[in-house]
Amino acid sequence: MVTHQAVLIPGDGIGPEVTAAVRRILEAAGAPIEWVECRAGLAALECGLDVLPRETLDAISRLQVALKGPCTTPIGEGFVSINVRLRKELDLYAAVRPVRNLDGVPTRYTGVDLVIIRENTEGLYSGIEASLAPGVVTSTKVATEKACTRIAQWAFRYAQHRGRKKVTVFHKANIMKLTDGMFMRCARSVHDPEFSQIGYQEMIIDAGCMGLVQDPTRFDMLLLENLYGDVLSDLCAGLVGGLGVVPGANIGDQGAVFEAVHGSAPDIAGKGIANPIALVLSAAMMLDHVGHGDKGERIRKALDNTLVRDNIRTGDLGGKANTKQFTQAIIKNL
Ligand code: NAD
Repeated sequence: MVTHQAVLIPGDGIGPEVTAAVRRILEAAGAPIEWVECRAGLAALECGLDVLPRETLDAISRLQVALKGPCTTPIGEGFVSINVRLRKELDLYAAVRPVRNLDGVPTRYTGVDLVIIRENTEGLYSGIEASLAPGVVTSTKVATEKACTRIAQWAFRYAQHRGRKKVTVFHKANIMKLTDGMFMRCARSVHDPEFSQIGYQEMIIDAGCMGLVQDPTRFDMLLLENLYGDVLSDLCAGLVGGLGVVPGANIGDQGAVFEAVHGSAPDIAGKGIANPIALVLSAAMMLDHVGHGDKGERIRKALDNTLVRDNIRTGDLGGKANTKQFTQAIIKNL
């Protein structure tokens, strides 16, 4: 079996706890991954390195695949988000977040099966802010035809490949006529000539959010610019059990970084109670990506048995298991 080298970034807060859990599970599943551990975030700063060291970026560029724990970003001050820098520097332009009900995790809704595709490189995440005068600040939203078109192409190709039925674009083009207008027009111009067999819908984002919380099963895939994708990812996580269960990937033409939707969860960091499911499922996506889908499937089945048959869950899902106990239960089911 071919062994794949992959970068592992433990990250901050609960990052080291959940990445340790994932390492143990992948090893027990016999996944042929050789980890190259790299630093980023506060963990890198504490070692006297840059928050996003050049060696980390170079290692990901070289190996083209990474699993990343969450990294903390100071709020309202301090350094630029490592997560944003990483996505931009490596041009990981497509964020993919599958949001599904998990058997054994009861929630308000059943039958939720959404895929969120988020443009990862521009919008209000461009970080172009200015202080114009005392008490007056601005933030510039950037949309380029190139980035809007390529994310739309990526989303429709994904839909075609995975047999998804419909892509819904959420926008606010009634207000942001240029930026969101471009995002919407690019999506339409990709859909109409090339992907007309896939359903296509445009919704103003506020009405779209109401539709989502009323009945998320009406939606199949969502295509969103950067900030909307960020907000909607957490909203949709809430529909299926919370941030502890939603995985993700940031994909570009030259590499992919797999990470959970959740952040470093400082409120529970160090307590040993974090739910590792989101990162476990991100790692399963990584295994699919590098051609070891059989191992990914084995891990998903073991997780399923842990939740459904053994009825073992972490505290965020109403259970009593801590991270280590939950991890051990998955390993037992492998
Ligand atoms: P968060 O996702 O870290 O936490 C939100 C809530 O969800 C908290 O109550 C937390 O305890 C809970 N939660 C999150 N993951 C969980 C898990 N695996 N198990 C159990 N409960 C979990 O969001 P936040 O508090 O807004 O952000 C904290 C930090 O994380 C910030 O510095 C932010 O910038 C950063 N962040 C990083 C990433 C990333 O690295 N990709 C993503 C989002 C936020």
